[in-house]
Amino acid sequence: MNQPAPTIFDKILSGEIPSYRVYEDDHVLAFLDIGPLSSGHTLVIPKERGAFLHQLSEASSAAIGRVLPRLCRAVMKATGATAYNILQNNGTAAHQEVLHVHFHIIPRHGESGLGIGWKSSSLEAPAAQKLVSRMQQALAEEGA
Ligand code: 5GP
Repeated sequence: MNQPAPTIFDKILSGEIPSYRVYEDDHVLAFLDIGPLSSGHTLVIPKERGAFLHQLSEASSAAIGRVLPRLCRAVMKATGATAYNILQNNGTAAHQEVLHVHFHIIPRHGESGLGIGWKSSSLEAPAAQKLVSRMQQALAEEGA
């Protein structure tokens, strides 16, 4: 299998590029986004190199899951925000710029924060049933 390509986040992890570090443990680093959408915009990344969430190991996923709510509380306390978004982009077509898994914590302060275009459609029964079958088949193939 191809090795994941290095990104700028490797340099942040190694300290070669400075960042405002918020939190660090064996698996996870959190630091302030250099181009914040709002005050307190924080990035949470696994130390493991990998472009997409679906490629992440269980150990890294679990470590991020454990610490994410705590980091959200810290961002809320530090900024006074009472609302926030978690954003996690996968693929350049999905607005991912840095190909190393990262979760954005983006506090909402009035109008500043994540702008969302949400063009919903409706869920039709035949299509929904087909999708569920396919997804369950995929899960079964992984032994989930
Ligand atoms: P993406 O669009 O890939 O989900 O978001 C990547 C994020 O990484 C962007 O919000 C961008 O501002 C942030 N970013 C890119 N380069 C650096 C950097 O060198 N330092 C920091 N702190 N953030 C960065």
